Amino acid sequence: MFYTPAPPDPKAAPVRINLLSDTQTKPTPAMREAMAKAEVGDEQVGDDPTTNELCARVAGLLGKEAAVFMPSGTMCNVAATLAYCRPGDEILAHATAHIIAREGGAHAALGGFQIMPLPGDDGQFTPEALRAALHPRTRYQPPQVLVSVEQTANIGGGTIWKKAALDEVVSIAKAHGLATHMDGARLLNATVASGISPRDMTAGWDSAWIDFSKGLGAPIGGVIAGTRAFIDDVWRWKQRLGGSMRQSGVCAAACIHALDHHVDRLAEDHANARALARGLSQINGIEVQAPETNLVFFKPDGAGVAGTRMVSELRKRGVMLAMMDGRIRACTHLDVTAAQIEEMVGHVRDIVRGA
Ligand SMILES: *Cc1c(COP(=O)(O)O)cnc(C)c1O
Repeated sequence: MFYTPAPPDPKAAPVRINLLSDTQTKPTPAMREAMAKAEVGDEQVGDDPTTNELCARVAGLLGKEAAVFMPSGTMCNVAATLAYCRPGDEILAHATAHIIAREGGAHAALGGFQIMPLPGDDGQFTPEALRAALHPRTRYQPPQVLVSVEQTANIGGGTIWKKAALDEVVSIAKAHGLATHMDGARLLNATVASGISPRDMTAGWDSAWIDFSKGLGAPIGGVIAGTRAFIDDVWRWKQRLGGSMRQSGVCAAACIHALDHHVDRLAEDHANARALARGLSQINGIEVQAPETNLVFFKPDGAGVAGTRMVSELRKRGVMLAMMDGRIRACTHLDVTAAQIEEMVGHVRDIVRGA
């Protein structure tokens, strides 16, 4: 039995335009230089100065007491739910959430938690949907402990939760005694696009994290922030999960470099995403969701080309992207240029013409 990804096809065209994911970004020469110069120590005992600096930077950025460097965004989510919940507890999240569909069942396997999938458009549940899913504490219902949102909502189309909706979710959660967690894999895309600061965007949320290995361009890592007590708990789970690190300053230096140089430029990725959506929407029969950030979801079926065929035809032309939940997802990031976007639209036009 094969698990995806399939082994790369040696006869496949070289990838020239990589729209598969912002995780595909490679560290820039300047980032590698920062990594090479990083001062390091033993992270596990709190002795790595560069990792400590990164954690202090992110805690400050998100207005939280403390933060911890994790090997991945997935581990930020997993360690967070392990810190908040006990076996049998319920987490509430949108039906398309990463914690439900893309973390290998970690929350059930490692924590024994169940996740209640909430409905709603564009990867976001409404405050009303949250209210409707809440129940009083009884002897027979699972204890509801945590509500989690994605900012931005990945499968929802990279959509940005509005600040007012986030505030309402927090106030409902607090009134019900739930903890609040923000999966901020692309939080800085949301803050750059909306002009709302990261501190304001995460205000009221017990925990939030940002991924450095996506649009920020670092090779590895996420940083989760919250109260000092919460971060102590996350640290214990980080150790239990085997995620404690040693001279992690080499990686933390890349993240610090990203905070200094790769945040404002996310606006370019958003402009490229808008240009891509505009170009695609001018092709008859292509259905495009208007992007709010760096993710462009589209369906070519109306132009007579099935999504899977479009993906494989584009791949032959050196463009890599993939289907995600029934649509094609194109992701712009720091290794994608405006000229590549124009070229990509041309390929789609040609493929549709030849259909
Ligand atoms: C990518 C992603 C994650 C996981 O981050 P990794 O660093 O890839 O482990 C979690 N949540 C969302 C919404 C994501 O897009």
